[in-house]
Amino acid sequence: MTAVTLYSAALVVPVTAPPIVDGAIAVRDGRILHVGERRWVAGSLAERGLDAHHVHWPGVLMPGLVNAHTHLQYTGMAEVGRGSYQGFRDWVAAFNPVYARPHDWALDSAAGARQMLEAGTTAVADIVTDLEAMRALHDAGLHGITYWEVIDWTNEEWVERGRAQVEAALDALPSPPGTGLSPHAPYSLEIAPLLEIPDIVRERGSRIHIHLGESAIEREFAHASTEPWQLRGLASLHELRQAGYGTSATDYVDHLGVLGPDCHIAHGVYMTEKDRAILRARGTSVALCPRSNAVIGLDEPPVAAYLEEGSPIAVGTDSLSSAPSLDLMDDVAELHRIARAQGYAKDDLAERLLSAATLGGAHAMGLDVGPERTGYLAVGARADLAFFDIPVTDVAETVTTLVTAGAGRAAATVVSGQVRVARPSFTEHTGVTS
Ligand SMILES: [Zn+2]
Repeated sequence: MTAVTLYSAALVVPVTAPPIVDGAIAVRDGRILHVGERRWVAGSLAERGLDAHHVHWPGVLMPGLVNAHTHLQYTGMAEVGRGSYQGFRDWVAAFNPVYARPHDWALDSAAGARQMLEAGTTAVADIVTDLEAMRALHDAGLHGITYWEVIDWTNEEWVERGRAQVEAALDALPSPPGTGLSPHAPYSLEIAPLLEIPDIVRERGSRIHIHLGESAIEREFAHASTEPWQLRGLASLHELRQAGYGTSATDYVDHLGVLGPDCHIAHGVYMTEKDRAILRARGTSVALCPRSNAVIGLDEPPVAAYLEEGSPIAVGTDSLSSAPSLDLMDDVAELHRIARAQGYAKDDLAERLLSAATLGGAHAMGLDVGPERTGYLAVGARADLAFFDIPVTDVAETVTTLVTAGAGRAAATVVSGQVRVARPSFTEHTGVTS
C-alpha cells in the first residue's frame, strides 16, 4: 500500500469550499484523498485502516498558486524591468536591444521556474520565444502550459513558411506540461496567422494565449464607416486603423475566431464594457498583470469592473523584463489595492482574488477539470499545495493578510505530492525538507 501523508494547518483554504479552521488534507500517490477538519480527516483514514505520516503547519495551507501569464525566458532581463516607461512603445525600445544580446535562455528560464516554485507556484502559463527556453516547465516538473510565441509574420511569409515553422515548433514542445500557441498580439501579426492559429491548436486539442488590450492602440474609438470591416479585405489591424476603423482589438480577434474557452488573454487593460462582455460570452479568461502594467506605464486594469460583471479572471506576474518579481502574491496585493481604489467595496474581495490566483488560473488553462485538475483542494485533484507563513487569527482577517501581505511568505511548495521547496521556517516546524 502506498504511503499517505496528512497535512494539517491552522487554516486550510480549499478555494472550492469555505476556509477550514484546524483543517487537513490527506495525500496519496500525488493526489488529494481527503479534505476537511483535521479530526475528521484523521478519523476517516483510521476507519479505512490507512496509516498516515502527519505534518502540521501552524500557518495557512492553500492550493499552489497558478501564474497565468509569464515569460520565464526573460528572467535574465531584470535590468529592463527595473526601469519605468512612458507606455508600450517606450518599453519595447528598452526591451529590444537587451533581448538582442546573447543569452543562455535555457539557464534563464530554469532560474525563472525555480523562482516560481519558491513563491508557492505549482502551475504556470509560460510563453517561449526561442526554442532553447522550451524545457523550463517540463524540467522543473511544474504543471501548466508551455506556449510557443508567434510574432511578426506578414500574410505572405506566413503562407510561404510561417505556418510550417510554427506547427513544427508546437510539435517539438516537451510534454508534460500541456502545450499551445501564443499569437503575440493583434497588432504584431497580420490577419492570416491570426485566422489559422486557432485551427492549428484546435486540431490538436491544444490551447491559445494572446496579449490583448495591453497597448492603447487596441482601444475602441468611434468611427464613421457603416460598412463592416470584414468586407473590406483588410490585411491587418494596422490597415483597419488606416482605413479609419475604431473597432477594438477584442472585437477584431473575436471575428477571426481567436477567442473561446480554450483561449485566455493577458492584461485586458484597454477594454470597454462591450469588450469585457465579448470575453464573457466566449468563455475567455483574462490574466491580470498589474505590476507589469505599472512598469510599462499603462493604465490600471479595470479589475473592479471584471469582478462586478463576473468575468473569469486569473493573475500573472508577466516576466522580469517588465515586473519586479515573479511572486504572484505581489500582483494579488496590487489587485486588492486597485479594486478598492476603483470602488469595489464588498467583503468578498480577498477570497475572490485568492480564487483568481489559483482556481482562476487553472480554469484559464483548462486545468480545473479532468485528470490533471489543479488549483483547488478537493478529492482527486493533484496535490499541488502552498504553505504560507501567515499568523492565523480570525478567518476573514487571515485571508485578507494573505492577500495583501502574502508576498515572500511561501514557506513550502508541494507539486503532485512532492515537497519541492521547504524554507527553514517550515523545516523547523515540521521536520520536512525538500
Ligand atoms: Zn507578456
